[in-house]
Amino acid sequence: MTKKQAHHFEPFLRNVRHTSRIELSQSSLKKNINFLRRKIGPEARLSCVVKANAYGHGIPQMVTMLCRMGVNHISVASAYEAEEVLEYRSAGTDIMIMGILYDRDIEWAIAHDIEFYVFNYDRLPLVLEKCKKLAKKARVHVEVETGTNRTGMTEPYFKKALTFLKRNKEYITFQGLCTHLAGAESISSNFRTEQQKKRYEGYLSECRKRKFMPIYRHIACSASALVMPETRYDLVRVGVATYGFWPSPDVYYQHLQQAGKLKDTPMSRIISWKTDVMDIKHVPKGDFIGYGTSFQATRNMTVAVVPVGYCNGYPRGQSNRGHVLIKGRKAPITGLINMNLFMADVSDIPGVQPGEEVVLLGKQKNNTINVSSFTNYVQLLNNEMLSRLPAAIPRKIVK
Ligand SMILES: *Cc1c(COP(=O)(O)O)cnc(C)c1O
Repeated sequence: MTKKQAHHFEPFLRNVRHTSRIELSQSSLKKNINFLRRKIGPEARLSCVVKANAYGHGIPQMVTMLCRMGVNHISVASAYEAEEVLEYRSAGTDIMIMGILYDRDIEWAIAHDIEFYVFNYDRLPLVLEKCKKLAKKARVHVEVETGTNRTGMTEPYFKKALTFLKRNKEYITFQGLCTHLAGAESISSNFRTEQQKKRYEGYLSECRKRKFMPIYRHIACSASALVMPETRYDLVRVGVATYGFWPSPDVYYQHLQQAGKLKDTPMSRIISWKTDVMDIKHVPKGDFIGYGTSFQATRNMTVAVVPVGYCNGYPRGQSNRGHVLIKGRKAPITGLINMNLFMADVSDIPGVQPGEEVVLLGKQKNNTINVSSFTNYVQLLNNEMLSRLPAAIPRKIVK
């Protein structure tokens, strides 16, 4: 078995089926990428962020599709993810690690031409040592502190870093100067974004003063790349929008305003999540369904047993609250989400048999279950739910 197969790139590689399956729409992704390119313009390079197994969509499939669409810059949060991207990217696609790279893996990154953030001055001498050892240049993005107070060098260290990089420029490429915005998705944080940009400009002035500029200046995530042109600089790091999600209602409304439209659907979700009815039960009025007493049948009911639970990343918060689609109709979840199954009320959907397709996420006939229906339109919660979808669920690229 090759490593590619081991990553479940081929849908039903194992002899037996997984309990559910994910489908990824290539045409929806194409639509999103086309829109992002139009919106961002030709000046800034598009880097698609595929951290957290591509926001749960699957690194192998997403990287394969993105490369087919000509996206030639991919960002990840860790060296561990970078190694997986390396396996599926096409030649000439650059990879950038925005987060954790252990000391012991610096050599690996340099040897594979992988770009990485440096947010600590102390890292630089270590990088230099490895470059000399390998006789190969490292491509370093210096991350600066502008008000997020996550990672990033403060000004005194940044000045030292610039001196160091300029002195050692035959060994280390000053690939980028970057920072991360703390509140670009909400209009109420605009003052903070403006302040961060102003501070970032301060760091850039220092570079200019020393006649030592980075190749790429970048600060934008999806939200700011979409609606704040002044944050786009030379490269934008687009995560959630790649997958067809508006970062927030604020960003969507700002886009409508800019586009002069009342409604616009330039992006589409690309993920669907499906399974099948495992069994059908007839429950007499007054009986409880599942563990505990959280759901009591108010009439004689028919329920479908669904072979997915919280161990598969299905949120427990959906207990007695969410819906699934069966025969194109919404079936309410009855009782608690168990570790590996839950029940849905199909009393009003005649003729449901074991084996019937169940849509957990996505479209069936004229109905849709959005991730946002799980999580009420808040990006962080969308991200949380998606990124927790286990890597073991098979993922298939569809038209
Ligand atoms: C996750 C991440 C992004 C992408 O954020 P989205 O809001 O999903 O576009 C960009 N930059 C950094 C440093 C990140 O960690």
